[in-house]
Amino acid sequence: MKTATHAGAPDRYLSLLKEVTDCALRTIPAYRQWAAYDTGGPDPLARLAALPLVDKAFMREQGPAGFVNPEHDLESALARGEVELAHTSGSTGDRVSNVWCQSWWNASEAASWQLNTHARRVCDRVHPEAILASPLCVGFPCEDGYLDRAQRTLGRFLFLNERVNPCDWPAAHMDRMIDEVNEFKPAVLEASPSYLAHLCRYAARAKRHLFAPELIVLTFENPSVLHRRQIRAVFDSPIASSYGATEAGYVFMECECGRLHQNTAYCHVDFIPFAPRHGGPGIGALLVTTFHNPWRVLLRFDIGDVVKLATEPCPCGRRAGLTLDSIEGRGVNLTVASDGRAVTQNAADRIIAGVPGIEDYQLLQVSEQDYLLKFVSCDSDEARITAQAKPALVALYGNGARIQLERVEALPPDPPGKCRLCKPLIPVNPRAFWDPRHVPPGGPSA
Ligand SMILES: [Zn+2]
Repeated sequence: MKTATHAGAPDRYLSLLKEVTDCALRTIPAYRQWAAYDTGGPDPLARLAALPLVDKAFMREQGPAGFVNPEHDLESALARGEVELAHTSGSTGDRVSNVWCQSWWNASEAASWQLNTHARRVCDRVHPEAILASPLCVGFPCEDGYLDRAQRTLGRFLFLNERVNPCDWPAAHMDRMIDEVNEFKPAVLEASPSYLAHLCRYAARAKRHLFAPELIVLTFENPSVLHRRQIRAVFDSPIASSYGATEAGYVFMECECGRLHQNTAYCHVDFIPFAPRHGGPGIGALLVTTFHNPWRVLLRFDIGDVVKLATEPCPCGRRAGLTLDSIEGRGVNLTVASDGRAVTQNAADRIIAGVPGIEDYQLLQVSEQDYLLKFVSCDSDEARITAQAKPALVALYGNGARIQLERVEALPPDPPGKCRLCKPLIPVNPRAFWDPRHVPPGGPSA
């Protein structure tokens, strides 16, 4: 079945897709069993859509070498340092080893810059860039003492932070970050939204001025409305969310009009809609097929996020590939309403960010009908926050929902330093919400 989301794809895109599918099914060891699902039909989109999917369990099973063309000598490329083995430490604890090819990653990133007018103008591979994120994701971790600026500098990159938990940052540490941004004057500030929001809340309270970079790129996490608002209160720079994964490269980039465009030069995306009662057909999951990576041929990788398709063409004029209104959050952050409907992180975020006085929060689903909203607030009127949040959350989670609120001093991130705004403590299988008419066929990982 042809995916309406890629209607009118140009011929060169379709022939590239055919080439990638042919190569994978004929030569890549991991896809040996998939030949049974190959329709061999003339439409590359329909042919790909008939294949199973790849997930982290399947990747672990096959190992990094399973996705490499046997004609390429992985051992000697590793020995030459052309590629290395990278281990992802996903927020769900499902570690995977990947063959990491820096030149492919860089090319995928550069292609994504074309999808945002500011990035296209500012990013040129020599631009000074400051990075604020968990040092366990990027940079140099140090919990015992502090590293000086030279120790946190790598070429044109300055890593502002060496401490994992923002809740433990002393004021002097945040003052140092602010001073360094003001001295370094980065063209681009790349940040985890929760980390940058934490620094911005401090800067606003301390009335500290921050140099405005030409572009702020939010990555590593799906930004909350609250985080964006707190960052916006301090910076007037353009803000763009960049979306991808270690396994898949740069997949979507937010344009200057606020929608997310597919990085069609480096990937194809299949959209699997949720069933109508769970938000489909506009809300669904993504399977990513990558292009041009000589060291990892990846077809239909379940990247694990939930997205909302754009309902109208973007005013920026970009038409290639899929356009999204939003990334709705990680699949593992889906919660379930009291009547069994899926609730995305963004759906809860829109409600909670609308309650004045909440600075940060985490919503836990404790049982099928019990929800606990932990929140941080400087506002002393806890009763008012409760009075506003409870009915709004009941409207979202249904009349059977029992909502509790708990005020906390701070909310530390989950390992390795990612904020989880919503977290089910009961088992929730994100694929259970997929529309059964669009679920990929069986196979080792379906
Ligand atoms: Zn756009």
